[in-house]
Amino acid sequence: MTEPVTLALTSPPADPLAVTDIATAAQCGYGADQDPWDFDPVIGYGPGASMVDIAPSWTPMQGELPAEYREASPDQLRQWIRDARQTLGDRVVVLGHYYQRDEIVEHADFVGDSFQLARAALSVEAAEAIVFCGVHFMAETADVLAREDQAVILPNLAAGCSMADMADIGEVETAWAQIHEALGIEPGILDDDGLVPVIPVTYMNSAADLKAFCGRNGGIVCTSSNAETVLEWAFERGRRVLFFPDQHLGRNTGKTLGVPLDQMPTWVPSLPCGGNEPQTVRDARVLLWHGYCSVHKRFTVDQILGARGNHPGVRVIVHPECPMAVVDAADEAGSTEYIRKAVEEATEPTTFAIGTEINMVNRLGAAHPQHTVFCLDPVVCPCSTMYRIHPGYLAWVLEELVAGRVVNQITVPADVSAQARVALERMLAAQPKSKPIKAPGSPVIV
Ligand code: SF4
Repeated sequence: MTEPVTLALTSPPADPLAVTDIATAAQCGYGADQDPWDFDPVIGYGPGASMVDIAPSWTPMQGELPAEYREASPDQLRQWIRDARQTLGDRVVVLGHYYQRDEIVEHADFVGDSFQLARAALSVEAAEAIVFCGVHFMAETADVLAREDQAVILPNLAAGCSMADMADIGEVETAWAQIHEALGIEPGILDDDGLVPVIPVTYMNSAADLKAFCGRNGGIVCTSSNAETVLEWAFERGRRVLFFPDQHLGRNTGKTLGVPLDQMPTWVPSLPCGGNEPQTVRDARVLLWHGYCSVHKRFTVDQILGARGNHPGVRVIVHPECPMAVVDAADEAGSTEYIRKAVEEATEPTTFAIGTEINMVNRLGAAHPQHTVFCLDPVVCPCSTMYRIHPGYLAWVLEELVAGRVVNQITVPADVSAQARVALERMLAAQPKSKPIKAPGSPVIV
C-alpha cells in the first residue's frame, strides 16, 4: 500500500468557527474524472463537499483496491457484481443509501436512509453478510442491530462522515463534565420537578460510542425524521439537552418546539466551557454541538431567492441539516424520506427546488419526469464520503465473500453495542411522528 499522504487542505484553521465559512464556498473540488481509489492513500475526506473538513487522525483508511477492480470497465464491474450476487443468493443483502451513485443503487436490495436500511437488513433472516453502501456510522448502527452471526461490510473503509467525526467520545465526555461543573450539580440528580440536569441526544449520524454514551447516561438517539419527538421525550426527563453533533438539526428542531434562540447556545468543543459563560449554560435549554454537514451547509437563502425568481411557483424543500435561515426561507423542511415522498406524492406537475445531496435530487428527477426537480446548489458537489463507494469496491467485497473471505468488516465492541442499543431502543419507544420540521404552508421568513 502507498504511504499515506496528508493534503494541505487538512491543516486546521486558526479559528474553529471559520470552517463553516469555508464550507459555503462556491467551489467544490469534485473531480468527476477522478476515481475514489486515487484518494485512498490520502488522509482526508477526498473531493466533494467535505474536502476542506479536517479528518481526525483516527479516521479509517482504505487499503489498496486490487488492480483488476480499478482497471475494469463499468460493464465488467456490473457483470462481476451480478455474478457474485447470483452465487451468494440470499446469503448477502446489499443496502444502498439515497445519496449513493446510481451505479451502486442499481445493485441494492434496499434503498433508504440510514435507519430504514439498518432495519431493512434485519428483515432478511438468511443474510450472513450485510454489505452497507453508505458511510461508517451507518454500518456501525447496522452491526449494533444485527445478529451476532451476521457480518456488516463497508465496501470502502474511508467512507466516513465529516459531520459524525466532528464529535468524538473524549470531547463529549469533557463537555459533559464541564457542563455539570457550570451547573454545580452531579449528572443524573433530579430537581424538584423530577428532571435531571442534562439529557444527551445524539443524531443517528454519530459514532457508536456516542450512541453508547447516550445509552448509559439516560439519553437517546434521533433521526432527521423524529428529532422533534425525541426532543419532546428529552424535555419530559431533563431540564436541558446536549445535542450532538449537528447544530443545525438541533437548532431547527428546538426552534420548531418554541425554544428561544438565546437558550440554544453553541458548544465549541475546543474552547473552555464550549465558549460559553457558566450562566449561559445554566440558562440553556439546548446546548448545540458545533458540528455540521458540509453537504447541507452549502445551501443558502440567496439560492432560494434565485429559484423563486427564476421559477415562479417553485416548491422549495430542504433538509433540516441546512442552516436555520435556509430552513426558514424554504417552503418545507424534512428528512430524505420526507423529501422523497413529497415529490412522489405530488399529483400535479410541479417544479421542486431541493436542498439535499445531488445524487438523490438527480434520481428523484429521473424517476418523476412529470415534475421539474433541481438542486438548489448550482455547483455539482456530492457528499465526499458517499462518493468513496464505487462499483469497484462493491465487486471486490462480494467476490471476496464468494471466495469465503470477509473483508472490510465493521464490528462494534460488545459493551459499546449493548449501550448503543439502549439509546436506539429508547428512540423506537418514543414513537417517532415522521413529520416535517417545517410543514407546507408555513410562513416564509427571509
Ligand atoms: S451527507 Fe453530510 S451527514 Fe451525510 S454522510 Fe455526507 S457529510 Fe455525513
